[in-house]
Amino acid sequence: MSGALHDLGVSDLARALAEKKVSSVEVTGHLLDRIAAHEHLGAWLCVDADAALAQARDADAQRAQGNAEQSRPLLGVPLAHKDIFVTRDLPTTAASKMLAGYRSPFDATVVSRLSAAGTVTLGKLNCDEFAMGSGNENSAYGAVKNPWDLTRVPGGSSGGSAAAVAARLVPAATGTDTGGSIRQPASFSGITGIKPTYGVCSRFGMIAFASSLDQAGPMARSAEDCALLLGAMSGFDERDATSAQRPPQDYARAMRSPRADATAAQPLKGLRIGLPVEFFPPALASGVDGAVRAALAELEKLGATLIDVSLPRTELSIPVYYIIAPAEASSNLNRFDGVKFGHRAAKYTDLIDMYKKTRAEGFGDEVKRRIMIGSYVLSHGYYDAYYLQAQKLRRMIADDFQHCFAECDLIAGPVAPTVAWKLGGKGDDPVANYLADIFTLPASLAGLPGMSVPAGFAASGEGAGMPVGLQLIGNYFQEGTLLHAAHAFQQATDWHRHAPSATAMGGTA
Ligand code: GLN
Repeated sequence: MSGALHDLGVSDLARALAEKKVSSVEVTGHLLDRIAAHEHLGAWLCVDADAALAQARDADAQRAQGNAEQSRPLLGVPLAHKDIFVTRDLPTTAASKMLAGYRSPFDATVVSRLSAAGTVTLGKLNCDEFAMGSGNENSAYGAVKNPWDLTRVPGGSSGGSAAAVAARLVPAATGTDTGGSIRQPASFSGITGIKPTYGVCSRFGMIAFASSLDQAGPMARSAEDCALLLGAMSGFDERDATSAQRPPQDYARAMRSPRADATAAQPLKGLRIGLPVEFFPPALASGVDGAVRAALAELEKLGATLIDVSLPRTELSIPVYYIIAPAEASSNLNRFDGVKFGHRAAKYTDLIDMYKKTRAEGFGDEVKRRIMIGSYVLSHGYYDAYYLQAQKLRRMIADDFQHCFAECDLIAGPVAPTVAWKLGGKGDDPVANYLADIFTLPASLAGLPGMSVPAGFAASGEGAGMPVGLQLIGNYFQEGTLLHAAHAFQQATDWHRHAPSATAMGGTA
């Protein structure tokens, strides 16, 4: 096999495995060595080398028997899970002290589906505690470093997933996105990620943060890889009451199917892309603005038509999200009381004291802040003033998107107003972190699918040289259109093939 094994993405690997150019044991072993050499990134919360190699041996044996070459393209492909998905064979912490030592008796549906597809699980990835954060600095087990610049954040909350994929420690990883946590770390780390429509991936076994917003999705090198993985991890699940009842989707096919008006030179002919004026404010970092506009020009070259649209309540999505998400979190996190899971205070006087001490010790500052905000906005007298108002605005934000989609097929813009910031750069200011979510929150509140596609690097300004993602947002269940446009863009550009240099990453191998 020529070239480095870690440079192969999911589809490359699937092909190489099918052609018997490489074995799953070889790739798995190589990646495990690479993970060990890059421990300083802080991306992993647990790696089980023996279990991974056993799964790889099993996958190789199944391939040798000619088992399901066609129907299981992912057989033997290594990946890893954000530590917010519960796993039976590996510990699950949600990056919280509260769940230190916790073992789930079952696998999350996303995990069991990917395992059934034959993937090899290398381990669990670091994230913000209970997925609350935008920089992966809120993990109880330490911050994750951005492989492009070790002094910067990888984005959050799926920062471990983004860093591991960007550093070529694993071809792909699962992530979750409540308010941007797949798209924003994908953008900050120069990889491709898709958050599907709410309900496409089962939330069963995904540790709940804000149930009406939480959605799983793949983080990988390319749209092609994301399409393959999304096909395997999505689909109706009767154990999730909000799971969308739809027949299984072939995203890889949708990604490839030519548009009605397509020509060889203009595969996106006929595609109308709306640019919300609110997504290009004067405060947008110049490096982000430049890369996003160049990507839009490329899409235009590929045949797409760019039109101006408006999402007038974009700014309001910040207060709306930071009322609704904490409200739901305050309820979801009640289950961590020292009785059922994980941590329990060592010393206490009575039951109430045990609850209090357990929660005071187990939760980090950001989680406590959200529980308090959530309890406040749901309390008598404030419910109408905050929670109810936020819910009304949430509906209006969703309606604004429908007005746009009357005129366009996709919406495009930046993922975040800046590139990855310096570790500690936002100090202890939670609001500075919240404001950085402005472009991802609207689609989350509306439950729409969104993607981040590598669009180059900031040419100037603070953080010059850091990756920039282009955000694409589709209407409900238009994942196929999103992936198609992203794939066409990636056929014409090579931003998604860029990897951080060994010098930048400072590994030992
Ligand atoms: N940054 C947002 C938050 O802190 C989104 C997190 C997420 O999508 N999980 O809540």
